[in-house]
Amino acid sequence: MLRRIGASAREVRTAEQLRSLDGLIIPGGESTTFCRLMEDFRLYEPLRAFVGSGVPTWGTCAGMIVLARHASGLPFPTLEAMDIEVDRNAYGRQVDSFEADLDVPVLGETPFHAVFIRAPVVASVGAAAEVLATVQRGAGDKPSPVAVRQGALLATSFHPELTQDARFHQYFLDIVNSQRMPSGAK
Ligand code: GLN
Repeated sequence: MLRRIGASAREVRTAEQLRSLDGLIIPGGESTTFCRLMEDFRLYEPLRAFVGSGVPTWGTCAGMIVLARHASGLPFPTLEAMDIEVDRNAYGRQVDSFEADLDVPVLGETPFHAVFIRAPVVASVGAAAEVLATVQRGAGDKPSPVAVRQGALLATSFHPELTQDARFHQYFLDIVNSQRMPSGAK
């Protein structure tokens, strides 16, 4: 998706590979596995330093869990990067995965079709973070945040790479481009 919209993208598995990136996406997957590997490959501190240095970072689904200040149901520390608290798997089991058309004002008027796969519920959003979109499951339910931004940090509880709609990736790329140093300056 990133390449389709003109970015150059590569996979990151080691701390060395974090060097010279203009932005990082921590994807969906399984946050317990991510954290176990982050421990084994000694990635916690490099990632904390990377995110803390202000380089744009976007966490989707399990990536959102990793970025949160606290994640209930996660037997590991998080990166404590974003002022949000999440509840792992709180929308239900795999069979409770769902899709929803979201109103996302920063992306314009057309709703964004979002795919939620055993997504975390955002239980609270602190003052430092801004809610970009919410979802309402049942008619009487309280809208629940599903996309949050805090400065150059972005977190979505769904998988924007699973549709053809590149607007969320473009939104992140715009954050990256606005933070990039002029070429040759680094
Ligand atoms: N349920 C997973 C977790 O708790 C997240 C699922 C996903 O990233 N799609 O880590």
